[in-house]
Amino acid sequence: MIWNTKSYDFMPKKYLGQNFLIEMNIINKIIDYINPKWKDNIVEIGPGYAALTKPICKYVELLNVIELDKNLVFFLENSWFRKKLNIFQSNAVHFNYLDIYNNGNKNIRIFGNLPYNISVALILYLFNFLEIIEDMHFMVQKEVADRLSAIPGTKKYGRLSIIAQYYCDIFPLFSVDPISFKPMPKVKSMFVKFIPNVKFPVCPQKIEVLEMITKEVFKHKRKMLRHSLSKFLTMENFIELRINPMLRAENLTIFQYFKLVHYLTLK
Ligand code: SAH
Repeated sequence: MIWNTKSYDFMPKKYLGQNFLIEMNIINKIIDYINPKWKDNIVEIGPGYAALTKPICKYVELLNVIELDKNLVFFLENSWFRKKLNIFQSNAVHFNYLDIYNNGNKNIRIFGNLPYNISVALILYLFNFLEIIEDMHFMVQKEVADRLSAIPGTKKYGRLSIIAQYYCDIFPLFSVDPISFKPMPKVKSMFVKFIPNVKFPVCPQKIEVLEMITKEVFKHKRKMLRHSLSKFLTMENFIELRINPMLRAENLTIFQYFKLVHYLTLK
């Protein structure tokens, strides 16, 4: 079944990544996976014409939504489910998610069919708020999902894979064809779940070190670590860390990156 978008003045804005979901089976599948509960402190990024917002309203007491497009905010403000919504007309990449945490006094759940042009920047930005996040469910381009979940030694394994997997357990849930959206995007999409990782403690200093290390080693990703990290580590350091200095950026596991971060933070 196709959700009816014809009744609205339908002029999607490409620069805001507006690809509206129209396929009911996919919408229902997304909601099943999110499994919203009445008292959840939940926020949707980019509600648009409420394809997900409206059905989710049934399950929750209150739904926070962040939408940049003022026409869509106007649509939401005049909807019959308005009383369930806490609407922020704001840019999700600059938003202070602590406000939602404080309002609900509870860790937040975040979801959205993300505008493709901001998906990576937004996900990286949200890592700053992991301590107050319970989980996140996002629709992203399949190519981004592949990079987010890539394993060492594969072509897609890079800075995004390492930083994302350092902070979260990542579960690609199901792929979605372009035909499920209007207008149709050029590429396939994937619905992905993120659960903040408790294995590696997050602190700002470590985030900086991880960003610095991954930047250095991926500048020339075919270089051995003994060369790409020679500014920071001696051969003795590598031995102490039990990391083979002949390895290359793409072969190091997340745990080995964690060891490097830990070591360099203490140093
Ligand atoms: N959830 C809807 C719309 C998805 S399209 C659906 O699935 O049908 C992406 C939505 O994100 C659009 O409504 C767009 O206006 C909004 N958006 C784009 N950039 C944004 C930003 N920086 N902050 C918040 N919302 C944004």
